[in-house]
Amino acid sequence: MTELSWDALAAQSNGRPALEVLRTATAAFGDRLALASSFGAEDVVLIDLLTQATPAPRVFAIDTGRLHEETYDVMERIRARYGVDIEVYYPQRRAVEQLERSQGFYSFRGSLEERHQCCEIRKVEPLGRALKGLQAWITGLRREQNVTRGGVEVIERDVAHGGIFKLNPLAGWTSEQVWDHIREYDVPYNRLHDQGFPSIGCEPCTRAVARIEHPRAGRWWWESPEQKECGLHVAGAIQTR
Ligand code: SF4
Repeated sequence: MTELSWDALAAQSNGRPALEVLRTATAAFGDRLALASSFGAEDVVLIDLLTQATPAPRVFAIDTGRLHEETYDVMERIRARYGVDIEVYYPQRRAVEQLERSQGFYSFRGSLEERHQCCEIRKVEPLGRALKGLQAWITGLRREQNVTRGGVEVIERDVAHGGIFKLNPLAGWTSEQVWDHIREYDVPYNRLHDQGFPSIGCEPCTRAVARIEHPRAGRWWWESPEQKECGLHVAGAIQTR
């Protein structure tokens, strides 16, 4: 896309309903656009909307090898409901073998550096492969999710991934809006959400939270809030407004 058409795309997307953003993006990028899904509440809403926006949605997932059984279950129910082929990316086998042989099976509990090392091998490297050849990717990021996400905009340039576009159609949505959509359209969702898991990642790094806790308090609960990212969403993206 040229800078001019990018400006037009931004103008047609900022402040617009999520479905409209997705329609604009699918028309602009075609099969060089894909949704990154971990099958949390936001992601299943986006799949529901993306399948309305285009007859050929692309959805990819990173199977870290440490996911909950309930996550595979919702992936299968989404496949059945929407007929989408989920493009699965695994970590590099040799890197995981080396990590587990040399540091064991819970190295991520040892220090922030070791946690980042595990996320790098199991998430960040596969994401890089998934994004190869894309002009834009879609995420379920929302501003209210965490202190690290307060600056999220609907459209950003992802400088960490070669300057491709990163679309966050639910940036301004509240948790209530997400759940209203799921209930209204009977969208399949991860059953862990009914068991006190508002945010779901890898099984050993996610716990249920109490009602009074922040929704992301259960992710890497041994770390402070400003550290709770896995490297998939690097701060510093350039926003269009
Ligand atoms: Fe490893 Fe935990 Fe990161 Fe998953 S969330 S990649 S298990 S450190």
